[in-house]
Amino acid sequence: MPEPSNYKLIGAVIEASVANDWYSAVREWEIVDMEEDERCEQGCVCGHEHLRYLFTLRNRLNGNELYPIGNICIKKFERDDLDSELRARMQAIKLAQTANALGTGGQVELKGGSFTRDLINYMRDEGAFPDNKYNYWDGDNDGRFLLDMFNKRGDLTERQGKKVYAVIRNAVYPWLRGVWRDTHNGQAPRF
Ligand SMILES: [Zn+2]
Repeated sequence: MPEPSNYKLIGAVIEASVANDWYSAVREWEIVDMEEDERCEQGCVCGHEHLRYLFTLRNRLNGNELYPIGNICIKKFERDDLDSELRARMQAIKLAQTANALGTGGQVELKGGSFTRDLINYMRDEGAFPDNKYNYWDGDNDGRFLLDMFNKRGDLTERQGKKVYAVIRNAVYPWLRGVWRDTHNGQAPRF
């Protein structure tokens, strides 16, 4: 890692960690928050300016926080678990942006390019699908259904299409509004 920004990142991480070496220190951190700043006014702990996506990392051992830190620097931790969470959170915010651009006049399509297998599984893990009588009081039936329909080759039947629409409307959208508010300082979305 030869660039000066990498030394700044290494310094900031080690300073806030229990371990004194980079490879042990990076294991101590988890993602606890993410924000989108459309005006890109803040800079990363590495010195890189104009972050659009601002993450907060928290140290599991001493409770220290690193903020703001950008997605590029989180990738430098080279941890598969952080990378997959980062990817899922980025996909979730992109889905929220798509929904926001469509507004109340439309709805994001399952196969329109905004959903991925990982994102649907992330939503399942995050409890996006609430239990109700339509899913026999097991919300994950809806999560699994959405995944099956996403993976299905060829057209959905009319019945499947209607159910997909309803699950996106009644489970994905409320969850996505929460994602939007969490990442935009409580600001209400346009969807
Ligand atoms: Zn950075």
